[in-house]
Amino acid sequence: MTQSNPLPFLPFSRPHIDEATITEVGNVLRSGWLTSGPKVQAFEAALSQYLGGRLVRTFNSGTCTMEIALRIAGIGPGDEVITTPISWVATANVIIEVGATPVFADIDPVTRNLDLDKLEAAITPRTRAIIPVYLSGLPMDMDRLYGLAKKYNLRVVEDAAQALGSRWQGKPIGSFGDFVSFSFQANKNLTTSEGGCLVVNSPEEARLAEKYRLQGVTRSGVDGIDVDVLGGKYNMTDIAATLGLGQLPGIDAVAAHRRSLAMHYFDCFGTSFEAQTGAQLPVADTENSNWHLFQIILPKKVVRAEFMKKMMEQHHIGTGYHYSPIHLFTLYRERGFREGMFPVAEHIGYQTVTLPMFNTLKIGDVERVVAAVKSCLY
Ligand SMILES: *Cc1c(COP(=O)(O)O)cnc(C)c1O
Repeated sequence: MTQSNPLPFLPFSRPHIDEATITEVGNVLRSGWLTSGPKVQAFEAALSQYLGGRLVRTFNSGTCTMEIALRIAGIGPGDEVITTPISWVATANVIIEVGATPVFADIDPVTRNLDLDKLEAAITPRTRAIIPVYLSGLPMDMDRLYGLAKKYNLRVVEDAAQALGSRWQGKPIGSFGDFVSFSFQANKNLTTSEGGCLVVNSPEEARLAEKYRLQGVTRSGVDGIDVDVLGGKYNMTDIAATLGLGQLPGIDAVAAHRRSLAMHYFDCFGTSFEAQTGAQLPVADTENSNWHLFQIILPKKVVRAEFMKKMMEQHHIGTGYHYSPIHLFTLYRERGFREGMFPVAEHIGYQTVTLPMFNTLKIGDVERVVAAVKSCLY
């Protein structure tokens, strides 16, 4: 870089752990119990309470949660699972991981979530499940989603990785529905550094979830042990659970703060921004989304990489892209997917940019970001 920039670097995401939680992590490190123990149990109980009393099990990622939900549902070779091409690749990878066939349906250009008409059109006699994604924390029409699931007798594995603190008709996402998976990866509204949880429907499903997360083991008596299913190594540590316990009580306040930041983004962009630049703002939701991400769609004529470079080099602002169309990755092209199959997803996947949005972002930062975006696009 030839020019020094007086403004501090502003990343698009930055985790924040408060001092009380850091102290509590220190206590765990001194306690002699590092892996799954009392903190994991307490975190699962707290999550369950937040999610209306539903059964919750924790894991070491928000990816294995979805894989395990598919296994609990008995989904495997010969089964089709429908999902969106615009998500983190984990969402589709877990379908392949269990031996099932991923099927994509295009997205809605406004919400950027699965288009439920296209989803319905993609259902075949082999379809067993749907994995909807609430991109940026914005839920879809949950009544219609579950109406379709009922009509076609499909399981739903909600990829709510980004949606802890989001709501539908006043109820938290995860407090109703079928399987619901959350991620606690470092960028998420609540982070355990890495981690996730799965909401299940019955004690039997919870037992299976416990087996799949730890080698299929069931213990009994003083020294009894049996293994009757093939499980993996997916348990959460007490260190991670302590991070989660420190943040869960504040999760609604976090969502409220992010909503106010999002509204400030809209105010700063103003009503003429879209018409003047050809860019597209997200849905101005004030009810349901936890505003995990604030994403704009660049006009077609703008090369995203150049925009991102300008934001970084001229304005010292980090941006991200969430996400590239999954069906165009080599692994998916090898399964027959091609350009042109999901035109809305392809346009959005190539032109979407994620602007800074995190728990400690300030109103003044939003103003700085919008001024920078405008200077790049006008
Ligand atoms: C973060 C995320 C995941 C994966 O979560 P990990 O905890 O990183 O495994 C899956 N889907 C979406 C939409 C995500 O944002």
